[in-house]
Amino acid sequence: MIAHLINTDVGRRGVLRLYLEYRRDNFNFLQKSARLLLDNCERTLIITGFGVPPHFIPETDGPPGALAIYRAVEALGGRAEILTYPEVEKAMEPLHVEFVRKPEPEDYSLVVAVETPGRAEDGKYYSMSGVEVKREGFDEKVMNARDAGIPTIGIGDGGNEVGMGNIHGLIKRHIPHGERIASTVEVDGLVLSAVSNWGAYGLVAEASVETGKNLLRDWNEGAVVQLLTKGGLIDGVTKRREPSVDGIDLKVHEAIVELLKAILDESLGG
Ligand code: MG
Ligand code: MG
Repeated sequence: MIAHLINTDVGRRGVLRLYLEYRRDNFNFLQKSARLLLDNCERTLIITGFGVPPHFIPETDGPPGALAIYRAVEALGGRAEILTYPEVEKAMEPLHVEFVRKPEPEDYSLVVAVETPGRAEDGKYYSMSGVEVKREGFDEKVMNARDAGIPTIGIGDGGNEVGMGNIHGLIKRHIPHGERIASTVEVDGLVLSAVSNWGAYGLVAEASVETGKNLLRDWNEGAVVQLLTKGGLIDGVTKRREPSVDGIDLKVHEAIVELLKAILDESLGG
């Protein structure tokens, strides 16, 4: 149910077939990732940030999801740090979270990437429209973590993000410009979603179901997106500084969060 909800293709980006095929062979992908989070969150590195061409200003998809996971890790008794671009740090300043600039993956028990570029076959980063993203990326941290045997989770919505290496072939087949943009960076748990923030909220919701503790109860989607927009982040699709995500009105994002909360109320008994 939660996996279906976070893959509702409101933005009409064609993720439905990708989702259905991914799910066929990975029926419990969300539970698996929630288990990875719950079992390894004592020291969590959360990576987020995607620079939108042509100026590579970071977008509003990713940081809210990273924050939701950060709060969930705290509520579970773990400690989290966020690696992101300076502009995102600045926009998130009022939220009192810990940032890290040069993390050593070996210092962490878990690495979670939320909507951040993963290198394609040619070693470059691409936007969904196939434009090269000429900005420093963080995917090497995830690759290093994997080499060191540290569990990794990737959350994405387009095929060009860290984690989509798990379904490289499906991205090439189902996503426009897939041959060019498909990320090669793999993770232990891939959360596929129609909007990456939703993927992060879905992961937190699934972890709530697993633990019986509502980790999404205090989430205020409108306040977070508005704060980050005020802080300078832009919508990745419209490329404008407005309180929306992936070209989808804020009301829709709030509605998705409400539905997730309703599912949790139902399954956790209010
Ligand atoms: Mg994306
Ligand atoms: Mg997105």
